Amino acid sequence: MKLEGLHHITMITGDAQKNVAFYADTLGLRLVKKTVNFDQPEAYHLYFGDETGAPGSILTWFEFAGAQRGRAGLGMVHTLQLGVPSAAAIDFWEQRLRDAGSASERTANGTLAFEDYDGLGLELVVSDDGNPPLQAVHPEVPAEHAIVGLEGARAYSLYANVEESLLTDVLGFDYEGGGEYKLQGEQRHFHWAYDQAEEVGEAGAGTVHHIAWASQDDDHLKWQARVREAGGFVTDVRDRDYFNAIYFREPRGILFEIATLSPGFAADEDPQTLGEALRLPKQHEHLRAHLEQTLQPVVNPRTARREAGATR
Ligand code: ZN
Repeated sequence: MKLEGLHHITMITGDAQKNVAFYADTLGLRLVKKTVNFDQPEAYHLYFGDETGAPGSILTWFEFAGAQRGRAGLGMVHTLQLGVPSAAAIDFWEQRLRDAGSASERTANGTLAFEDYDGLGLELVVSDDGNPPLQAVHPEVPAEHAIVGLEGARAYSLYANVEESLLTDVLGFDYEGGGEYKLQGEQRHFHWAYDQAEEVGEAGAGTVHHIAWASQDDDHLKWQARVREAGGFVTDVRDRDYFNAIYFREPRGILFEIATLSPGFAADEDPQTLGEALRLPKQHEHLRAHLEQTLQPVVNPRTARREAGATR
């Protein structure tokens, strides 16, 4: 039994429209689902990814409008690494971010580090070995430069260099030394790492809420049993409409989720217009009229382009 790499990573934003403009326009991802938080339906939950919303490409945000910026600290993810196909693509993105008014910086490793509107740490890295590319289509982003999915994530820990046995013995990550791990599935892999830190952080806009690993549907309950047997508290199975989920904290404090690969984001929407209409979990459908009035409308760049094309 193997986890199939990353499923998605979920963050907090203070401004849904700025979030959509940055990820679905500047970075050229596709907004694949516009819905609300299951537990707090008055808040948006936005999902971005490749053209089909494939696990491994998915970044999601809970919007808490006007939320104060947080700060990554102990037991929190601090940087997300997005893959691009080549070093030439890094040059393309350096220019595109500059044109969009976003500062970026080359690291010693040749990656491109920058932040989103909320201060979330992002890094573009050349995709290494063999993850099938998961790309979205954007008219201003040539296919040879488009983001190809998530490659890795880095978190803070007091004991960065101590092998974490929950990861290796229970979840099947390979430890590569120096706080670095690789999760290798059948198709996809993901790089996970801890960096040494001492400071406690603060949840808020621009911080990571949780990270979800992908499970074959048939293995999901076995993963739940395995985490429980290892002595970890794990939730019951939650039906998230597009996947089933279980949650637990890894020993350094980071909230982990294991999510099933099915049914996926086309479960309740035409793949052609994914992410364009407000979708509500069935238990919150009765709130639709109220939510459509109270949620700040979010303009999806795809809808805007299609409408502009139609009236031209
Ligand atoms: Zn999640």
